[in-house]
Amino acid sequence: MLFDPLAKALDPQRLAESEARFEGRIVLPAERLAELVEETPADVWVRLAFDWGPQHRPRVRGEVRAEAACLCQRCQEPLRCVLQSSWELIFAASDEQARSLGEEGLDCHHETGPLNLAAMIEDELMLALPMAPRHEPACAPLACAGQAPHPFAALKELFARDGHNK
Ligand SMILES: [Zn+2]
Repeated sequence: MLFDPLAKALDPQRLAESEARFEGRIVLPAERLAELVEETPADVWVRLAFDWGPQHRPRVRGEVRAEAACLCQRCQEPLRCVLQSSWELIFAASDEQARSLGEEGLDCHHETGPLNLAAMIEDELMLALPMAPRHEPACAPLACAGQAPHPFAALKELFARDGHNK
C-alpha cells in the first residue's frame, strides 16, 4: 500500500499491517532545520517501508537524501551539503519494551499519539549535518576582507576570459 508520509494522524500499526511503502520527493516543512542551515532543501528524497519487526511491533525503515546550503567554517560563504541518512526504528508498546528492545541494540520509540513522520525525517536530516562544513579542496580566494566577491563571480570571469582567448 502506498501512503502519504506527510499525512496527519498516521498509525504505525496500520502502516505495518498493510506493509506501507513510499518512495519519492516531498516538500518537508523544516523549521528546526532552517535554524541550522543557510538554506533548507527545496525538496527531500525519501524512501520508507513499514512492516512487523521483533516482538510483533511495527517497524519503519527509512532512507533520506537532500541538499542544503551550509555555511563554510573557513570562509563563511555558503556551501552545498548533501544530507543523507538511513535508519530503522521499532515502535515499542511501552517504555519497558523500548528498554528491552534497546538492550538488543535496536532503535526504539515509545510515544503515544499519532506518528509525525515529517518530524522524524527532519530529525534524520539534522543528524546528517556535517560538524564543520568546508569548501573542498579550498575556498574561493577572497580579494580582501570586507569586500569579498561572490564565490562564483571570479569563476565566471575566468570562463569568459578563456572563451575569448580561443
Ligand atoms: Zn569556504
